[in-house]
Amino acid sequence: MTAGTLDRVVTLLNVLVPVGRSAAGDVHPAGTGAERIPMTKIYYESDADLSVLDGQRVAVVGYGNQGRSWALNLRDAGLAVEVFTQADASRDQAAAEGFTAHEIGAASECDVICTLIPDDVIPELPITPKPDALWVLASGYAVAFNRIDPNCDVGMVAPRMLGPEVRECYLEGVGFITALGIQKDNTGTALARTLAIGRAIGGLRQGAIEMTPRQEAVLDLAVEQVLAPAMGRVSMSFVALLSGAGIPLEAIITELMLSGEVERSYRLLRLEGYAGQMRYHSPTSQYGQMSRADRYDGLDVPGVMREVLSEIESGKFADEWDAERDAGYPNLERLRAEKISPEIVAFEKDLRARLGERAKPPAG
Ligand code: NDP
Repeated sequence: MTAGTLDRVVTLLNVLVPVGRSAAGDVHPAGTGAERIPMTKIYYESDADLSVLDGQRVAVVGYGNQGRSWALNLRDAGLAVEVFTQADASRDQAAAEGFTAHEIGAASECDVICTLIPDDVIPELPITPKPDALWVLASGYAVAFNRIDPNCDVGMVAPRMLGPEVRECYLEGVGFITALGIQKDNTGTALARTLAIGRAIGGLRQGAIEMTPRQEAVLDLAVEQVLAPAMGRVSMSFVALLSGAGIPLEAIITELMLSGEVERSYRLLRLEGYAGQMRYHSPTSQYGQMSRADRYDGLDVPGVMREVLSEIESGKFADEWDAERDAGYPNLERLRAEKISPEIVAFEKDLRARLGERAKPPAG
């Protein structure tokens, strides 16, 4: 495994474990003796009752990536769904797939209005909802930044999943994780109705994380604008550094992309968690990852990379690792205790039991 890959794994640990977190929420029940880490509310199908939507007209506005999947899932869940689109190929497709399709403005008459339209277009929609209607967004963006403020209930069910997969995962029966929250509750039914929509699209099967629309929007944009460019920059620094150290470019690119190693590492993280996947790495790899991880705290990524590489090239790391072996691996044990602590193991175990494909809703 490459240093770049390992660093990403370690970085994910720092993201995954909210050490020192003080927000109010559930406390995970893992009985390992580990210090308890507060857990955010997670909704399951048992928290939602579809009958709160009995007799309500449900509008799906837009028939694109999310809209088509939502419309099909909501209909399969037994709700009275109608589609509202521009008069074009999307409307023809909705009609061909058995929906009554209308002009977008006609959604104003519906009781639940799900706008599956690009976020920047949502404020332009000619929709004036009834005061007792529920407007459901698939992203918090439009309300997070005050682009719309409709005079009705406003809820969010934001799939952590691409549009076509929202349908595929529904048909496979596994569902998907969502972020779910309420922006405005005029009627006192906003949460119950939003949960019902979340359940009907398949978004409560694995668990829905309670988030405000603003939290969801900030997180979503941060992944795109903070994390993704940083990861790209790290990869670029890594390529430049190793290339400058005389390693063939083809081999570096293979490590980063073509071999699928990074992909497999992330897959293991998803399937087993940070603590669980660590056992697949050799002791040399584990020691190298964990002993160098704190070097990046100062965030001079290229500088730290150069420093770590120079220790590899000079043989300093090999000498250090030999000394570690000769001493009976005291630092490796210390690092394992620190970086794969019982708190981390317990938090991951509990989170993975509560959220995702293996999530089992708590009894009752
Ligand atoms: P799409 O780009 O697939 O567009 C959806 C629909 O918007 C299409 O039916 C399109 O109609 C319609 N549309 C576009 N422009 C206009 C306009 N000016 N007037 C009227 N209708 C218009 O969107 P997505 O499905 O990707 O996104 C919808 C929502 O889901 C967004 O809030 C997004 O943030 C959220 N979301 C998206 C995810 C994703 O993976 N894509 C994941 C999670 C949430 P037509 O076909 O007629 O052009």
